[in-house]
Amino acid sequence: MGTKLCGRCKCVKHIGHFAKDRSRYDGLTHHCKICKAELRAEYYREHKARTYLESVAYRKAHPDKVRVYNQTYMKKKKAKEDMYDR
Ligand SMILES: [Zn+2]
Repeated sequence: MGTKLCGRCKCVKHIGHFAKDRSRYDGLTHHCKICKAELRAEYYREHKARTYLESVAYRKAHPDKVRVYNQTYMKKKKAKEDMYDR
């Protein structure tokens, strides 16, 4: 007792290397703390890259929409400014 197999790196580690997780049958997370940190870092990296690529792809796929959006934004902005000039 006192040790647990990590589901990711497949290392048997002392339970101190696992975070507590009450939803699991043994009260500990499936991955060791090191793997958890790595998974989180990976997720953020992928997530960030994906959202960036998606926005670039969207702009490429719908240049007209983006242009219309920018135009309406500028018009609204100008209308607001004109209002204050009066
Ligand atoms: Zn691990």
